[in-house]
Parts: sequence; structure tokens; C-alpha cells
Amino acid sequence: MSQPTELRELQTSLRTASDIAFDVQPPSGEQAEVLVDALRRALAAAQALGAGPGTTGCREHPRGAVDPLYGDKDDPLPPGWGRCLLCNDRRRRASRGLAGRA
Ligand SMILES: [Zn+2]
Repeated sequence: MSQPTELRELQTSLRTASDIAFDVQPPSGEQAEVLVDALRRALAAAQALGAGPGTTGCREHPRGAVDPLYGDKDDPLPPGWGRCLLCNDRRRRASRGLAGRA
């Protein structure tokens, strides 16, 4: 039996976060960004663990993590984005790539 995706995601992102947090050097700006990202993923994975299967409403990742920014009033997701963190991360990377080329 394989571990649930959420649990693996939780462990991976927490490991990333603690690697940065317990490094000898205080995290740089870029590392802090990675740290925030990892903690966000860990939070979403932990929430998904509690929420049970089928929470993202995503056909591709029905058991994936829910984006913690979904429903956030202060930092709303762009229109058309769903609750799936994996898909939203992909969209984020894509829009960042476009911005970098512009
Ligand atoms: Zn998805």
C-alpha cells in the first residue's frame, strides 16, 4: 500500500521548510519565498488529510491538496482558478514564465 498523496506532500514540504529554517544561514529572500511556499503546501496537505478524498473538485487530482489561497479575501485567486493546489501551482508557474519573458 502506498501512502496517501497528501501525507507524502506534507512530509516533503515540511522537510523542505525545516531544511531552510534550520540552515546555519538565515534564509535569503529567495529561500524565504521557498519556505513560505513549502509551508503553504504543508498546510494545504494537512488540511486535505483532514478533509478526506475528493475535496479539490479537480478531475486530474481529486485527492490532491486544496489551495490555501482558495476563498482568501485578501489575496484572491485569479478568476477561473479552482481549488486544486497542483493545478494552481502549474498556473502560477506558467504566468510567472510569461511575465519573465515579457
Ligand atoms: Zn488539479
